[in-house]
Amino acid sequence: MVEHGGFEPPTPCLPGKCSPAELMPLDAVSVAGFGEGGQRSRAGAQCGMRGSARRDGGLLGCDTGGGMLELALVGTGGMLPLPERWLASALIRYNGHLVLFDCGEGTQISLRALGWGIKDIGVLLISHVHGDHVAGLPGLLLTLGNSGRTEPVDIVGPPGLIAVVTGLRVVAAYLPFEVRCRELESGDSFAHAGMRITCVAAEHHVRCLAYRLDVPRAPRFLPDRARSLGVPLVDWKRLQRGEVVGNVRPQEVLGPPRPGLSVGLVTDTRPTSAIADLVNGVDLLVCEATFGDDADQPRALERKHMTFREAAELASAANASRLVLTHFSPSVTRPEDYASNALDVFANTTIGSDHLSVTLRFQKD
Ligand SMILES: [Zn+2]
Ligand SMILES: [Zn+2]
Repeated sequence: MVEHGGFEPPTPCLPGKCSPAELMPLDAVSVAGFGEGGQRSRAGAQCGMRGSARRDGGLLGCDTGGGMLELALVGTGGMLPLPERWLASALIRYNGHLVLFDCGEGTQISLRALGWGIKDIGVLLISHVHGDHVAGLPGLLLTLGNSGRTEPVDIVGPPGLIAVVTGLRVVAAYLPFEVRCRELESGDSFAHAGMRITCVAAEHHVRCLAYRLDVPRAPRFLPDRARSLGVPLVDWKRLQRGEVVGNVRPQEVLGPPRPGLSVGLVTDTRPTSAIADLVNGVDLLVCEATFGDDADQPRALERKHMTFREAAELASAANASRLVLTHFSPSVTRPEDYASNALDVFANTTIGSDHLSVTLRFQKD
């Protein structure tokens, strides 16, 4: 029997129902939809990443996370969890915020062993609704409820997500927080806790999304310029935030654009040019590699997955800096035995393993 800690279910959370997030423009999501409005206040929530990073010429960058983003593989298996390999899932930590990518059976157990926390997961990115990527949701939601969480939980994924989450919620009907689901279309983008998250359609047997997370970096502020233009010290922060002060535009006191941090999350798909475009130039690409042996390429084609070599080719085509492989078939008992198939194509490849973590930092100027 599940303990609910004696709370009263709040009115917005109907038994077994998952409320779709309001159909507001995606650029507005950071204001009232995902994360920032309902979460407790953190420095990253003050970023004001409200517009499109593309539209405003990159002036949104306001990293408050110390220029650091971490990713851990919660699991690296496909199809079914194994005693030594949980199902493929990844946890991203940025400035105290957690983003979970996929949630198969047993994900919460591996999350607990990882030790990065569960209660503060703000948004879940779902690639697709096959069981090995979503069956862990009700258990995770119940655990979040038992942890005393009251802030809403946002779940995004491809069309069809709401019906599936609503079905899974039959066994997790009463929660002390609202579960807000949003179905994304290819190309959609939204802001969350100082990150920008973008998706494109992947190629699998069901609707599937590949994701990219970006942490933008603000251009360097040039104090000598500000002084020479007569901007009072008290207004410097406004210019740094991209506001116009008097006749002085931010561009006049800011240096050139600086690269931020970026991660690609790609699973259960064939390699496609749209995915290569999405993850172009990422610092880290976490990519499925279901089959190790090149001889299994026909199976990969038929089941709409990738071989190690194909994942490496995708990383190469995308000009990624680093590749970490995941979502191994249960038949691949020792993924490292096939490492050379990926390393032949893309030298900076790591064979993923449960709880492997990668830390990304801003480049030094
Ligand atoms: Zn899968
Ligand atoms: Zn699948």
